Amino acid sequence: MAKVKLIEVTRKFNNVTAIEDITFEVPDGEFWVLVGPSGCGKSTILRTIAGLESVTSGAVYIGDDLVNHLPPRQRDVAMVFQNYALYPHKTVAENLAFGLQMRKVASTTIRERVEKVARSLDIFHLLDRKPKQLSGGQQQRVALGRAIAREPKVFLLDEPLSNLDAQLRDDTRAELKQLHQKVGVTTIYVTHDQIEAMTLADKIIVLNRGIIQQIGEPQEIYARPNNKMVATFLGNPPMNILPGIYVGDGFKIGEQILGCPSFVRDTLKLTQGQGLDLGIRPEYIEVIEPQRRRERREEIGGGELFVDVKVIEPLGRETLVRVSLSGLDLQMEVLTPGNWRGRVGDRISVQLDLNHLFIFDPV
Ligand code: ADP
Repeated sequence: MAKVKLIEVTRKFNNVTAIEDITFEVPDGEFWVLVGPSGCGKSTILRTIAGLESVTSGAVYIGDDLVNHLPPRQRDVAMVFQNYALYPHKTVAENLAFGLQMRKVASTTIRERVEKVARSLDIFHLLDRKPKQLSGGQQQRVALGRAIAREPKVFLLDEPLSNLDAQLRDDTRAELKQLHQKVGVTTIYVTHDQIEAMTLADKIIVLNRGIIQQIGEPQEIYARPNNKMVATFLGNPPMNILPGIYVGDGFKIGEQILGCPSFVRDTLKLTQGQGLDLGIRPEYIEVIEPQRRRERREEIGGGELFVDVKVIEPLGRETLVRVSLSGLDLQMEVLTPGNWRGRVGDRISVQLDLNHLFIFDPV
């Protein structure tokens, strides 16, 4: 096991900068997730750690060793890809053993490790089968097992679940987490799926266009996103963004005024007429039933907006309501209780919990 450290790593391909000035340190034994949209540089970071890609500048350390010039074989990392190429003519046991045989590990040790890994991944009963006799999920477990059996210092996983169907992906995700708790090997996991990132990570690194946007624990990033990209990327349904203009005691959105909470006025130096993006997560918007508007006027305060219901999506326990601001083509998503009885076309009033309002630069 080992920590992994990158210092100011940049990788260019001709005139394309795939990753720029990447610096982070994954402590020994932790599970970190690199997340971001397609093409943001996740795989390139993983490949520079594995040694499959050289760096244009910067330093890569595994443990205390600078590995910039070490070939992949000598880095003692194991990488698992989305298309986990198993050897089709070898049995599961032979696939698990292959990496160890290449490293001239003693055959009794190989047998012990293969059995141990097979038991921990619940593929012991499959050891004599060939890959084509396995389901996708079982094949993926063999690919993981092959990496674990080598007992590497570091695991690098590149979208390892993306070929699995939804149910299997959820199950395997939970298993991966348990496995990491058991094995405790430093793991760096790449995904574009924010749910995988939120559920698996000790820490998340959010990337966009080759640049780190934020590093932090999942809840910390969710509660205090650094910028609009991070705010809208993590969270399902995503954070709503409404463009507004600061008008002193509130924000003008179309023809409506949303109150400005005092913490915003006290901490941000906003100027009259300034354009801003206001962020609010769907769970902090409440539909105000018309019959209760009058009695709740006090607490509704400045958080009320009038909207038109566009789409209603029952999710079971909750209902996701897509609305547009009255008279504007501005969409917003609101979570209401599952038994909500509104209809498409209704004009309703919603209350935004202004304590959970985010203010972003409109870039
Ligand atoms: P991600 O894994 O987040 O989808 P990648 O790391 O694969 O992103 O790619 C980051 C950027 O670098 C993209 O713009 C991609 O086109 C570019 N890139 C990656 N590998 C190469 C390569 N071998 N040659 C040229 N451009 C590359």
